[in-house]
Amino acid sequence: MDMATDLVVRGGTVVDGSGTRRADVLVRGGRIVAVEEGIAVGGALGADVVDAGGAYVVPGGIDVHTHFALPVGAVTSADDFESGTLAAACGGTTCVIDFAGAGREPWQEALATWHDRARGRALVDYGLHLTVTEMPLDPDGAAQRFAAFVEHGVTSVKLYLAYPDRLMVDDDTLGRALAASRRTGVRVCVHAEDGATVETLVAEAVAAGRTGPDAVPSVRPPSVEAEAVRRAAGLAGAAGAWLYVVHLSSRAGLQAVLAARASGVDIHTETCPHYLHLEQSHLEAGAPDFVCAPPLRQASDRAALWRALDAGDVEVVSTDHCPFTTQDRRRGTGGTGWTDFRQIPGGLSGVETRLSLVYQGVLDRRLSLERWVDATSGSPARLFGLDGVKGAVRPGLDADLVVFDPGATRRLDAANLHSRCDHSPYAGLEVTGWPAVTISRGDVVAVGGEPADPRPGRGRFVRRTPLRP
Ligand SMILES: [Zn+2]
Repeated sequence: MDMATDLVVRGGTVVDGSGTRRADVLVRGGRIVAVEEGIAVGGALGADVVDAGGAYVVPGGIDVHTHFALPVGAVTSADDFESGTLAAACGGTTCVIDFAGAGREPWQEALATWHDRARGRALVDYGLHLTVTEMPLDPDGAAQRFAAFVEHGVTSVKLYLAYPDRLMVDDDTLGRALAASRRTGVRVCVHAEDGATVETLVAEAVAAGRTGPDAVPSVRPPSVEAEAVRRAAGLAGAAGAWLYVVHLSSRAGLQAVLAARASGVDIHTETCPHYLHLEQSHLEAGAPDFVCAPPLRQASDRAALWRALDAGDVEVVSTDHCPFTTQDRRRGTGGTGWTDFRQIPGGLSGVETRLSLVYQGVLDRRLSLERWVDATSGSPARLFGLDGVKGAVRPGLDADLVVFDPGATRRLDAANLHSRCDHSPYAGLEVTGWPAVTISRGDVVAVGGEPADPRPGRGRFVRRTPLRP
């Protein structure tokens, strides 16, 4: 690992949790050492200069929800750690937190597998969450297991309330995880869809011959999201533990989050760019490429999520990046072609387009500049144990920086993006605002949305800190 050259990012408008101000940023040894106006190049002799005139200088994006190289039955998500982190860098994201674990394998095995997949391939830094499908019955044993996660630098887990065939946990298991969370400071995240109700609705739809992608919104309606949020929040409240709801998609789900918060539950949530920008009409038109869970929703849900994002009620935008190629969508999870929507591998592309897609909310006056930065970097750092390391433009932090050109335009077709997936859910959409330069620990890793001197393997595993019990 060579030492990054000194760098000055000059003439930009710095935006982060401390506000918006004109400042230059001096980088030395991969860290930010000064943020102030008029840093003379003479004061940083020999430093490279990045011109940020007319641009925003923001902390590198942190995407806390990706699925790189995730096997789902016979197929695997299209991006591995190499293409996924390269796409991330081109779109202004300098840290991802990927979910380790593909099913019910032991956690040690999941962690070892994911470290193997990332090591030597990642272009930007990465952390890992663990997927939890069972918990020791004994409370001390449960807490010891979470304490072991912390020792491995993993301070968050996800439990699924859906997918009974491979991932779903019952309420007792979630309760034990929340109790262990309270003792160890490991953040519990939930995939909030009520699996039993979904199964019933799926069986009814298939029996009625409704087998295409157009059936998906009705078998995973907003009510199953709201119900799962209520159930998980009730358990979190009883345990006095924190709860984080991943990929919130609906107005009903949002109302359940807000009600739980009002009753005193320490609950946080994220949404994804596809729930802010896309609607279920794509599924109603029968397009298998738009299948994901929870499904795309209606205009009223989008509007509610934008408002909640601006208000800070939804703190984070992550991507749930998990695309599948056209060929793999056709093959289906069984590998021989899908006959009904259950076998369509679900998940959308997002890791490269997140910063710009959320920035569109700033242009549309739905969101402040500060909320844009906080939702894509500040809050993820604070909520996931990276505070003081990443997520702000401040001396002492990693020099993960994005020079964001508010005038750059880009058409979000797959050909203009770096995912290995051959289609983009945003094809045809032209956005305004794109990263001009992406800097990871002082190294320029992308310029003008294209990789610069890509060195897979320079990205490092970031050990995260637990919440304070
Ligand atoms: Zn996910």
